Amino acid sequence: MTTSQNGWPVQDTKAKLWPHPEVGPILGGPVWVVMAAFLRRYQAEIETIGRSSGCYNRRRIAGSTKWSNHASATAVDLNWNLHPAGAQHTGYSARQITDLTALLAEFPVLRWGGPAFNDPMHYEIRPGVTRAQVKKLATTLLQKQLLTHGFALEVDGVRGAVTTAALLEFQRAQGLEADGVDGPKTWSALLTTSTVAA
Ligand SMILES: [Zn+2]
Repeated sequence: MTTSQNGWPVQDTKAKLWPHPEVGPILGGPVWVVMAAFLRRYQAEIETIGRSSGCYNRRRIAGSTKWSNHASATAVDLNWNLHPAGAQHTGYSARQITDLTALLAEFPVLRWGGPAFNDPMHYEIRPGVTRAQVKKLATTLLQKQLLTHGFALEVDGVRGAVTTAALLEFQRAQGLEADGVDGPKTWSALLTTSTVAA
């Protein structure tokens, strides 16, 4: 299996990617859930995510034989018109840097390319982070959202029977395919509807 620099599999096609309105397709599953949550917070707390943004790009790192994390659809570039590569924080105010640092502390599976390697538009699944770590954060995000819909469950990051049952019940109540997968349509409903569990 060919992997990108952070150890996630290079995607030859978009088959395993899920759509995202701001950055286009992102690797489906827990990576999508975590990245989409980060992008919502970024958009609300840091700045609008404009058209000069993207995720999937099946390419190698410039000047290297290694595959870019964009090739595994586990990295996003945000507003490259504002934050060109070359310095740590180009285009971000001191206040935004403070807010971003605090925001990223809530997403420890992510790494910001600015401080890491002078690529301030770039955010990625951190090298060395395991699938289990990403899944745990994604499950925590799902559980918190299900809580707001009135489901009684513990926010423990463990995808057990109670969480799965709540998700299935939510999907059925929303007229969604009850497949137990929290993909883009389910997340859209989780974020926009105010239906409370019966
Ligand atoms: Zn990038």
